Amino acid sequence: MEEKNLICINCPMGCMLTVTMQEREIITVEGNTCKRGEIYARKELTDPTRIVTSTVRVRGGCDHMVSVKTKEDVPKEKVLDCVRALKEIIVEAPVRIGDVIMENAAGTGVSIVATKEVKQV
Ligand code: SF4
Repeated sequence: MEEKNLICINCPMGCMLTVTMQEREIITVEGNTCKRGEIYARKELTDPTRIVTSTVRVRGGCDHMVSVKTKEDVPKEKVLDCVRALKEIIVEAPVRIGDVIMENAAGTGVSIVATKEVKQV
């Protein structure tokens, strides 16, 4: 048996979770105050994913940057690849909230969308 400790990131309570595993199989999750903590621990230890938030440069807009995020979770090991890919691009103003800034970010199949509006100047 192996024990892993992690902190639930689903709400500000930040419950300390203790997960007991046997050969990659999760046996118990303890320390969670609600069911979301158990779901988080199981996912984090078997298939960790994240929403990526970042910024992208804008040309011809009233702001030089626009905030963006992945439309869905991406595998945790692809987060840095997504951020690096976003550093390489410049979008043209105007940008509207929800505009697709990049499709299939870092080969994840997930799009990256704008979370802010940038008007054209
Ligand atoms: S287990 Fe529930 S109460 Fe505790 S941090 Fe996670 S979401 Fe919040």
